Amino acid sequence: MAQSEIRYIDTRGKVVEPQRFSDVVIKGLAPGGGLFVPAEIPHLTMDEILGLAKLPYARRASFVYQRFGVDFTPEKLDALFDRIYGKQFDTPEICPIICPISDVADGMHVLELWHGPTSAFKDMALQALPVFFSASVEKQRAEGGPDTHYLIAVATSGDTGKAALQGFADVDHTSIVVYYPRDGVSDIQRKQMVTQEGKNVCVYAVEGNFDDCQTSVKRMFADADFAKKLLADHNTALSSANSINWGRLLPQVVYYVSAYTMMAERGAVKAGDPIDITVPTGNFGNIMAAWYAKQMGVPIARTVCASNDNKVLTDFINSGIYTIREREFLKTPSPSMDILVSSNLERLLFEVTGHDGETVRAWEAALDSAREYQVDAETLAKIQQDFGAGYVPSDECLATIREVYETYGYLIDPHTAVAWKVAEQAKGGNPMLVVSTANWAKFGANVYRGLEGLEPGAALPEELSKLTDVELNRQVSKIAGDAPIPAGLDELDQKEVRFTEAISGDVEAIESSVVRFL
Ligand SMILES: *Cc1c(COP(=O)(O)O)cnc(C)c1O
Repeated sequence: MAQSEIRYIDTRGKVVEPQRFSDVVIKGLAPGGGLFVPAEIPHLTMDEILGLAKLPYARRASFVYQRFGVDFTPEKLDALFDRIYGKQFDTPEICPIICPISDVADGMHVLELWHGPTSAFKDMALQALPVFFSASVEKQRAEGGPDTHYLIAVATSGDTGKAALQGFADVDHTSIVVYYPRDGVSDIQRKQMVTQEGKNVCVYAVEGNFDDCQTSVKRMFADADFAKKLLADHNTALSSANSINWGRLLPQVVYYVSAYTMMAERGAVKAGDPIDITVPTGNFGNIMAAWYAKQMGVPIARTVCASNDNKVLTDFINSGIYTIREREFLKTPSPSMDILVSSNLERLLFEVTGHDGETVRAWEAALDSAREYQVDAETLAKIQQDFGAGYVPSDECLATIREVYETYGYLIDPHTAVAWKVAEQAKGGNPMLVVSTANWAKFGANVYRGLEGLEPGAALPEELSKLTDVELNRQVSKIAGDAPIPAGLDELDQKEVRFTEAISGDVEAIESSVVRFL
């Protein structure tokens, strides 16, 4: 069947000429501040979905991209995905489904998304985006476009920075610079970043917290004079790799299609019957991908949004009111979900209002000015048809790590624990797929607290507090039946530190660091 190309419009109704996939990957954000979304969503038949079971993961990805009509040939897609989902993953399944409960038919199933090079689920998308970014730049040049070089600038609270560095390292036509808050990331996360290899990468510690770091990077993006100067002096344009880029969302749709295929293949669901999915949610990107998979025809009854104490999304799904007016930012054992403004929710609002860019614009404006908005009853009903929601306080999160380990001998990280607990509460008659977003060893200290029944934030015992996180992980592994530690995390203490420079968090310091790097 011939694939028709799907073009992209934006959530605030500003794009006049719908864009191709390769264009939106390079642009990231739409003009006017909206997000790119497909003008239409392709549909897969049940036979097509089940047929994917016979293909390796890379070919499943290629198939979904073809049906989304991306502007690369099938041969090119096959070649790119063979590189993307290759040996850098520690299992040929790429993202296996585990059933810790012996009764497959009745149990909870876990989709492990952390088998990539940095042990967090961000790899699923950040191995793909850079490859497509580079291929899109080549396409643009072949069509007579400018031969601009692209500098990816990332402010990170931990997981994204490393996954983006790993993805963009030595990728043609790009360089990448990452800023992390000096005192705001874990020992493991910092070591992962400052030991990054590659000719085109650079990492800076920034004084201040993540918000300062992010605000300065955003101000650099908004500085038109700086952009002109970079282009004139260095033939370089700034770009972003954060999860508002559609090139990060589409690879995530793939694993939901693939997960259903695998569950049907092993009899965890009868082909055609619905499953429910619980996703530990921060920026709403991962769960949004599950929603797109459902629209493509994957039998998903409910997607359940699992929040930690920063439960702005759970409250929104239950009430229709998104408010950050009196909400305090809380630190939890699942830091990658500590977020109050979830950018990808805008995509859902646009879809459930029947592509009403004007209304979405008004809600986003209200969030900027009044720090809250409320959707109408019809919109809320549509959201509640597809989504459930629940939240888990920090002490219950840690207790869940222990419960799951003691009951099933299966060790999970704090983000997965939030999803597990919410999934237990939400489970009805359908098989439940719990999405696991990080290997436990990325968050070893909190896994230790969970296993040993300590309070969130409690000091570790004297003899453990002197250890590096790598050494602590080995202790945790001993307690937990020799649970394996991914090699990339276990060897961090041996790797050469390449980046030690700390800079102040103001926009001038960030901009001059970019110029020095180039
Ligand atoms: C980024 C992240 C999340 C949140 O995913 P969103 O797509 O932002 O909702 C959850 N868990 C881990 C470990 C992450 O790194």
